[in-house]
Amino acid sequence: MIVVMKVGATTKEISGVISRVKALGYEPHLSEGEERTIIGVVGNGNVREYREQFELMDGVERTVPVSHPYKLASREFRAANTLVPLNGHKVGGKKIAVIAGPCSVESREQILEAAHAVKEAGATALRGGAFKPRTSPYAFQGLGEEGLKYLAEAREQTGLPVVTEVMDPALVPMVCDYADVLQIGARNMQNYTLLHAVGKAQHTVLLKRGMSSTMEELLMAAEYILSHGNTRVMLCERGIRTFEKYTRNTFDINAIPVLKQRTHLPIIADPSHATGHWEYVEAASQAAVAAGADGLIIEVHPHPEEALSDGMQSLTPERFANLMKSIKRIAEAVDRTA
Ligand code: PEP
Ligand code: MN
Repeated sequence: MIVVMKVGATTKEISGVISRVKALGYEPHLSEGEERTIIGVVGNGNVREYREQFELMDGVERTVPVSHPYKLASREFRAANTLVPLNGHKVGGKKIAVIAGPCSVESREQILEAAHAVKEAGATALRGGAFKPRTSPYAFQGLGEEGLKYLAEAREQTGLPVVTEVMDPALVPMVCDYADVLQIGARNMQNYTLLHAVGKAQHTVLLKRGMSSTMEELLMAAEYILSHGNTRVMLCERGIRTFEKYTRNTFDINAIPVLKQRTHLPIIADPSHATGHWEYVEAASQAAVAAGADGLIIEVHPHPEEALSDGMQSLTPERFANLMKSIKRIAEAVDRTA
């Protein structure tokens, strides 16, 4: 349930509601909008039975039951877009953010070369995995902490914030030391221990949709992070598993407008994993921007033919620079910038 405070409700009235929520055994979550404050009442129980009690309190305008299982992630809780700060701009605002870089950090030289190239083309942030979730235990698993150090060096040289995956709850503090954004991979979207850990870390999170997860499951996974008061969460549509074989996954373009309608969190599209082939990445990126995505995450490798993971879907720096130009045109057509 959501308690909507009156415009101009006093701090005392707001704290009165908060105390009441706590006294009833629920957790209050504050959302301070431009006009009014909204208090989410979250917990396990039938909170609706207290609706009238809250409505009689000073400063309360009304209460709204939230019928979806996700609460803090819902548009009812927060009507305005959540703006996630990234490299001086706000993801979820007018400007499209572009996170680019290789699938994996493979060496110091490789990540530095990639970082300078994507920076040159106008990327907002650098991606690169140091801990890789690979289907085969015999495949390259990433450089671990050494990779994180190279990412930090790349950030120092280029000024680009770093987005990198964390797979182990125990390693969240270490990854936070090096990275600006913690990526939760598709395979870990429902790793609840990990979701709790990144929620508690109060670090920016990029949460990828599980390969066979519904949008509601994605929103529920986000709810875990939000429940710790960590609101810097971006969701990522990265393609879902279907019967189609000509692409690695099926890009669920529907997810972009549907999620934008249901949640205030920014939506990032990943055309690289969604298609699995570099030839389709530009078209899928254009479609994502046209559909309302707030950002893109794109795999770029200085030498895709030598990549230790996901070479097939990686753009060369030159192709990435062309993609940046083409999405600028699409962004303008939908009243955004890139
Ligand atoms: C990645 O970003 O390289 C990755 C492993 O993505 P996903 O978790 O979406 O498969
Ligand atoms: Mn990859």
